[in-house]
Amino acid sequence: MAIIVQKFGGTSVADAAKIRRAAERAIRMVKEGYQVVVVASARGKQTDQLVSDALELNPNPPKREMDQLLSTGEQQTVSLMAMALDAMGHDAISFTGGQIRMLTDSVHTNARIKSIGAERIHKQLDKGKIVIVAGFQGVDEYENITTLGRGGSDTTAVALAAALGAEECEIYTDVDGIYTTDPRMFKDAAKIDQISYDEMLELASLGAGVIHTRAVGFGKKYDVKMHIRSSSEETIGTIITHEVPQMEGVVVTGATVQKDMAKIGLVGVDNVPGNAAKIFACLANAKVVVNDIVQTEVSAEKANLSFMIGASDLAAAQEAVETIKNDVNCERIFVREDIAEISVVGVGMRTHYGVADKMFSALAKAKVNIDSITTSEIRISCIVDKDQAKEALEAVCIAFELDKPSEERSQAS
Ligand code: ADP
Ligand code: ASP
Ligand code: MG
Repeated sequence: MAIIVQKFGGTSVADAAKIRRAAERAIRMVKEGYQVVVVASARGKQTDQLVSDALELNPNPPKREMDQLLSTGEQQTVSLMAMALDAMGHDAISFTGGQIRMLTDSVHTNARIKSIGAERIHKQLDKGKIVIVAGFQGVDEYENITTLGRGGSDTTAVALAAALGAEECEIYTDVDGIYTTDPRMFKDAAKIDQISYDEMLELASLGAGVIHTRAVGFGKKYDVKMHIRSSSEETIGTIITHEVPQMEGVVVTGATVQKDMAKIGLVGVDNVPGNAAKIFACLANAKVVVNDIVQTEVSAEKANLSFMIGASDLAAAQEAVETIKNDVNCERIFVREDIAEISVVGVGMRTHYGVADKMFSALAKAKVNIDSITTSEIRISCIVDKDQAKEALEAVCIAFELDKPSEERSQAS
């Protein structure tokens, strides 16, 4: 019997009526002949509430305890969903991450899945039950509860779909699919019917909060068909799938803006072998994830080095570079927090020219200054002033006609 995994995000299970609606969707798929596994998030803004409850008592809560606390949000939803299904006359059973052996590493608040025990789920599915699994959580090898990072229920769902060999992973949310950019930032954004894993990986890691980046990584690796769709409407959403040749015809598939980041620069570092290694070893020791590293030689003796980090890592990163400053003979360290990154992404960039020109011209016309630029094969990113982020995104979206479905854009977009 084919299996389907249905994931419901926080807004899609926010109250009793929404939980019932999600339960109805699961029953409908059972009636269509599927075995159904539901993955649920904490209701509404509950995870945010739990975070602020913790911070009220301790500004720097132990991460293990944070995971104990945050995992309770999802646990409530899954049992409520099982009760709703029972009331509707359908057998259901809920599980926490630990109960299905969702084994992770021990990096509390940002753990990675190592393995999943599918047997317990199969056993219950074979008894005709709908199985409901708490998203976002697992256990490490010492039975400590872990969580997968904010938005991590998507990753639970796709990883389960892979482990169970599911036909599809449906991700139900508060938008009816993936748009060319966040519709909250640019209201005219157009819906995308199909997008490649690689493009979605780039968009998600550049700030498109509609899906957890690691969920897309699992989808790509294990070939899981992912369908992002609305929990309140019956429409078809967006399919994330392998690249097909037609996708190359679209130059820019989407745009993102990322605001919660900071830039650190080390000015006048001695230009000798080993200094970059020393600096990044310090940052790695401090468990800081670094992006967009730029090093430029300013003279035979000196080099400047800068990199981007998540704003939440700023204190740890600053501390790390301060410890190495004298060792690498750095003249000055600068930090910028008032920045945002605007990016455009598309597999079509590989085969079309003029994309960079169009992006930079759009920003120039909008009088947005570009602080720095980074590129990959399928993306271009510009750092701009945070207070110009919205107008920069709008200018770029209009230049690439991201307010129109791809087939209606002029060829050069
Ligand atoms: P859930 O709670 O269901 O996981 P999220 O809030 O995590 O939902 O994700 C849905 C939100 O993602 C949307 O409300 C939308 O504002 C935002 N979003 C960001 N980028 C995009 C995009 N490119 N397309 C669609 N939605 C996006
Ligand atoms: N409840 C968690 C969060 O709000 C996980 C999720 O919703 O995916 O981040
Ligand atoms: Mg989410």
